[in-house]
Amino acid sequence: MVDRAIIHKFIDDVRRDLDKTTVSDFDFDSKLPGYRYVVGGIEESLELDQINLQKLKKYCKSLVSNITDYSAGQLQLADYLDKLGSQTISKEAEMGAAFINFAKLQKELAALSKRLVHSHSNLASLQNDGHAKSGGKNSKLVRTELKKAVEAIEKLIKDYDSKRNERRKLDSDRQHESAESDSDSKRHLQVQLCDYFIKVNDAKLKQRIEFVQRLVDYYHSQVSYFQEGFAMLEGFKPYIQELTKELATVKGKQDEIRSHLTGLNATLKQSKTCLEQSNTNVSGYSLHGYRGDKTFGYEKSGYLYKKSEKGIRKTWHKRYCAIKNGYMTISTAATSPPKTTLNLLTCQAKDCRDQDAKKWNFMIFSSSGTITFQAEDESELNQWISVVANSREQALNQAFDKTYNSETIIDKRSSNAVKELTDSILFDIKLRKGNNLCCDCNSKDPTWLSTNLGILLCIECSGIHRQLGVQYSRIRSLTLDNIVTSELLLARTIGNYSFNEVFEASLSPEDKLQSPSQMDERQKFIEAKYIAKRFILRKYTSEEYLIKGTESAIEMSNIEGLLQTFVEDANFTGPLPNYSDGRNALHHAINRDCSLSLHIIDFLAKNSKDISYQMMNGDTALHIAARSDQSECIKLLAKGGINPNITNNKKETALDLAKSRSCNKCVDLLESIMNNQLSSCDQIHVEDWGIMAGEESIYVHIPAQEDFSDDELDDARYLETKQKSECIAPKDISLDLSYRYRSGSHRSDHSGRVDHRRSLSFDESLDKKHTTVNRYANSIVDNNKRSSYYDGILSDSSRMSNIRSHSNPYHNSANRQSLYFMKPADDNIYENETSSNTLPNLASQSGEKYSNPSDLLPGTLARKGRQIRVKALYDCEADNEDELSFQENEIIIVTSDSDPDWWCGYIEDDCTRIGMFPVVFVEKLQSI
Ligand SMILES: [Zn+2]
Repeated sequence: MVDRAIIHKFIDDVRRDLDKTTVSDFDFDSKLPGYRYVVGGIEESLELDQINLQKLKKYCKSLVSNITDYSAGQLQLADYLDKLGSQTISKEAEMGAAFINFAKLQKELAALSKRLVHSHSNLASLQNDGHAKSGGKNSKLVRTELKKAVEAIEKLIKDYDSKRNERRKLDSDRQHESAESDSDSKRHLQVQLCDYFIKVNDAKLKQRIEFVQRLVDYYHSQVSYFQEGFAMLEGFKPYIQELTKELATVKGKQDEIRSHLTGLNATLKQSKTCLEQSNTNVSGYSLHGYRGDKTFGYEKSGYLYKKSEKGIRKTWHKRYCAIKNGYMTISTAATSPPKTTLNLLTCQAKDCRDQDAKKWNFMIFSSSGTITFQAEDESELNQWISVVANSREQALNQAFDKTYNSETIIDKRSSNAVKELTDSILFDIKLRKGNNLCCDCNSKDPTWLSTNLGILLCIECSGIHRQLGVQYSRIRSLTLDNIVTSELLLARTIGNYSFNEVFEASLSPEDKLQSPSQMDERQKFIEAKYIAKRFILRKYTSEEYLIKGTESAIEMSNIEGLLQTFVEDANFTGPLPNYSDGRNALHHAINRDCSLSLHIIDFLAKNSKDISYQMMNGDTALHIAARSDQSECIKLLAKGGINPNITNNKKETALDLAKSRSCNKCVDLLESIMNNQLSSCDQIHVEDWGIMAGEESIYVHIPAQEDFSDDELDDARYLETKQKSECIAPKDISLDLSYRYRSGSHRSDHSGRVDHRRSLSFDESLDKKHTTVNRYANSIVDNNKRSSYYDGILSDSSRMSNIRSHSNPYHNSANRQSLYFMKPADDNIYENETSSNTLPNLASQSGEKYSNPSDLLPGTLARKGRQIRVKALYDCEADNEDELSFQENEIIIVTSDSDPDWWCGYIEDDCTRIGMFPVVFVEKLQSI
């Protein structure tokens, strides 16, 4: 804008010049350079204005396009919300309506945004029509005009200046004349300047005022945008409030469905395991598997085949096994000392029979490894499994009975057994996911246990837990305290990981307490976690759902579910609204079959505010447990601090109820509880104490499997003292190929001729490498004369040792197979074979299967009353530990000849050298 003062000065100057007659000393000429300067300045500022306006226009335009996009986006959003809504509304009316309503709101907001576009584009178009409105010309034209004016003024000033200089030169001659023309041009200049100022003033002033006016309008449109938008959103408010309530209801319903589904899932899984167990356990087994058939008794001994996992080969060793007093011993023979002793309390047996393949296998899991056994037949297997379970149960009962009444400890072994059991449970607990770190601060290897929460803590955090009080956490040391099994029930089912899934659900890892934290920091964190429960995620929207959640967690024996309702402060003590008898959560849990939910009962017992709460009929939880003979449950309640002296409405104590039911175990327990002898409740009998086989997913890692290769055939000591005829028949499972071969695929006719058609088809399934060996073998068998087997082939001892020297398992089986062909076969073996139609099946079976487990049984030499002596034809070096090395001409006493191509025996002169050997390396001597 032109400085108003300059305009005023100009007006004043020109006036004074016009009145020159009165003010004689005024000289307009001297002011001219000043005006020249002013005009230049105006030009410059006009230039700058131009630049600024252009930029402003640019940004206005980009704003306009952004807002246009924004409003289009809003419309699209509304469109899709609409679609989602109309799709949902038929199935979920509330949700569908919500989508449609939000679509409506969005559309209105989009319309509002469109108006905002208008006000912005108004602003952007301002400079174009600002002048048009004021002077009917656009700004560019005005600028050109002004420029022209400036040029004209410049020229006039120049002219005027030069004329004035001339005038000064000729001052004396023609003063008068020139003065007149001088005055004319000066007036002309002044007129031009005046015009110029008028134009500039008009243009600039008008433009700016208009612009500011537009800004004012813009402000108003913004205000109305926000006001209308706000009003629109405000109008939506009541709906939103209603919707929020509805959402809670819907969420509650969904939660309910979810809990039903998870419950169903758990039930299905449970019934699946039951089904599996009842499938595998033939008559006499209870649903829960490991309850043995009592008719088989508590003791058993005899031979079993035990699988050795050592090395690549899976070998089966015959072992003498005995079960007595809860221990199972494994030895090489009935009279040899046991090599392995298993405390059955810490073990679990699993039936893994394969009925089709007639494999009567079972496994024993212990904390240090797994052993696979094989019984002779089905009935043997059933007996072994039952006796394992029976003996285990017997030992457990004895041990517990004896440990609580220390005076009667006669058998120290049983108290040791409990110690071993406790250690094994602790071992198991430490392996659970998350238990390698403190539950609160992630310190490594926590050794303190919160018995009511089932979590492991470091020493610092456990200190804070103690300060919280026993109503929050009951702390025991895993290393210093004498931990008893009843304290481990929860730790075994909860563990740090599952616990923090609930208690730290909303905690981001970086906010977690760290192991180097100071005590005050720990205190703050632990109080926030356990008392304020600040890191949890609430899942239940109302008290009603919370109670339902508790109920269904109890019904499903779902400890995580129970933890969630616990953390949301479910009232475990108060009566459940769904039952008219006034039962609470604990009563409800005990009313169910609690053999599967002892941990649930334990959690409720340890975390209820009033464990002695009475139902309508006056029964406490203890009454219910006594009425249904649930001794383990009684122990947990006593440990939880229930008052045993409370009587119900019929004036009966729990003890009275137990007496009326004549359950001796419960009577004894309740009597000792009433006498304050709580040590009787220390040990809990749970069916699957020990390791939880098959539940690997809950562990951080699987314990290193110890190979119970107790009993590789190193047993010189044993051989020295035992009768030589004792049969040890280690079996090499890699021989399975030859078993299969013999029993199914490979036949010889009565002349001992091999059916090549079949053997060839078998060849095809073998690695090509070995076909040469087989071909070689086949060519041998072609020879009808048996004696020539030896003559023709075995004389080639170097060749044989080549074959023998292969050490990889494939080579081994192929070799042995080929050796089989070379064997001067005992015709009986073939004659006894009946059909060959099983070939395709057998050939496709995995290498670990064999057709008949009786193949694994020892030879029947003793029964037949003969002894076989053989002479070595060649030197033979053992490839494996269970094989026998010998020199040519050494005499071997055969202990087993049940396998056609590998026999068992020992060297006649050195009975410490014992093992398997290939039949083709020896020559039979006359039987004695
Ligand atoms: Zn800690």
